[in-house]
Amino acid sequence: MAAPKGNKNTLGKHWKVKNTSKMKHPRTNVIWNKGKKMTEEQKKKISKNNAKYWKGKKRSKKTVEKIKRTKRKNPMRGEKSSNWQGGITEIKKRMRGWWAWKEWREIIYKRDNWTCKMCGKRGGKLEPHHIIPLRTDLTLIYDVENGITLCYLCHRKTIGKEEKFIELFQNLI
Ligand SMILES: [Zn+2]
Repeated sequence: MAAPKGNKNTLGKHWKVKNTSKMKHPRTNVIWNKGKKMTEEQKKKISKNNAKYWKGKKRSKKTVEKIKRTKRKNPMRGEKSSNWQGGITEIKKRMRGWWAWKEWREIIYKRDNWTCKMCGKRGGKLEPHHIIPLRTDLTLIYDVENGITLCYLCHRKTIGKEEKFIELFQNLI
């Protein structure tokens, strides 16, 4: 009676230990090591290349906050220097890929019926314009009340003279 029981147990234990050790180690090692390295390195690429990624959204919001803080630290210096315009352009370029930017733009286009509010031309090369420029208040970046639909040509006319158009555009939307 004792011999078969003992044999069974040893066999059972032996196999169980062998199996678990074979199953667990390679799996956990592969998943944890590769998974960690892959996500850390690719997260940045993913958020840049694919704005639809949920993780990318969170990163984008964090980036926006970081940009806000940096710009608020020395707004006067930045505004006076020529680098400031380059900074805004860089932010705008990045924003185009973001879901929030696209959503903001779509809401404004729909509200304005895909029509340039300055010359009345419908469709064509439309661009969303920030009525109160971002260099004045970056927090209005996704504010629908601060957006207006302009055609490419009219938008060019406002560059560098955004302040002069604020009242006009606020009355148009
Ligand atoms: Zn126009």
